Amino acid sequence: MRPFDYHAPSNVPDALELLRTHGSDAVVMAGGTSLMLLMQQGLVQPAHVVGLQSVAELRGIRPLPDGALEIGATTTHRQVERAAEVRAYCPALAENFSRVATIRIRNQATIGGNLVHADPSQDPPPMLLALNAEAVIAGSGGERIVPLTGFFRDYFETSVEEGELLLAVRLPPLPQGMRATYIKFLPRTEDDYPTIAVAAALRLGSDQVCEDIRVGLGAAAPVPLRARGVEDALRGQRLTASLIEQAAELVRDEVDPLDDVRGSARYKREMARVWTGRALRSLLDGEPDG
Ligand SMILES: Cc1cc2nc3c(=O)[nH]c(=O)nc-3n(C[C@H](O)[C@H](O)[C@H](O)COP(=O)(O)OP(=O)(O)OC[C@H]3O[C@@H](n4cnc5c(N)ncnc54)[C@H](O)[C@@H]3O)c2cc1C
Repeated sequence: MRPFDYHAPSNVPDALELLRTHGSDAVVMAGGTSLMLLMQQGLVQPAHVVGLQSVAELRGIRPLPDGALEIGATTTHRQVERAAEVRAYCPALAENFSRVATIRIRNQATIGGNLVHADPSQDPPPMLLALNAEAVIAGSGGERIVPLTGFFRDYFETSVEEGELLLAVRLPPLPQGMRATYIKFLPRTEDDYPTIAVAAALRLGSDQVCEDIRVGLGAAAPVPLRARGVEDALRGQRLTASLIEQAAELVRDEVDPLDDVRGSARYKREMARVWTGRALRSLLDGEPDG
């Protein structure tokens, strides 16, 4: 590994100043679980590493008065999984973080590192997409808010630019009566990345009419995505198991999976249909989270 200078700023302005000074020679490190592997493999060779562990304002889970929830970028997966505030906001979100890798990784890996790393097979992005999350990003020009639907640009590429920091993830208030779930198809081992992952949030009105629906998919394309075609086919309809099956067929045209060790693109396309149907059916009879 190429030698580097390690910097440990204690606040966001100092971290941003270090990024500005060192430009493309600097990288940000949160938990280091992905970055250290990239550095060991020589894929990233920074001269300066800006560690975020001492920046207290980036850590923590803050319920907001209107029912929204803000999660600081360096909050670990394990903290999200175990926080009472997260369970109170949406139990499926806590469950989602409990499905990442092993406890050892979850104790170290952060929500911010997960999003900026942007491996399309990661678990949190589809759930955060289904919950309409936003990213709070800071740079020399100030702060900006990016809906997660516009955050992932391409394979391992996000809208966080050089010199910027992801500060937090904001989740809007969960509408009353919303149900949510996350399911991860794991044909290999329990701690693997998913072959296909589906997160869904659903609100039913009287007579099972779908008032609000969001479907997030992971490992299904170069970026995590929302299955808009499926959502549009079900919104406003009286939901039945057979209608869900029909709508789930549409997901085949929305995904663009890669051939890899977890299966061929063709197989994953079919699994996206099967698991989208399962996720939505499970919500038909479920208890509200919101
Ligand atoms: C063995 C193993 C198994 C795994 N299994 C899974 C799994 O099953 N499911 C899953 O979802 N994930 C899995 N992961 C991925 C894991 O979730 C990510 O490695 C982790 O979330 C990255 O977070 P980190 O804090 O360690 O980030 P780092 O490794 O520190 O950083 C990752 C990237 O994000 C950038 N970055 C970090 N924080 C910020 C910030 N605040 N602002 C701007 N840029 C930032 C870094 O510069 C770097 O490019 C696995 C990883 C490993 C090593």
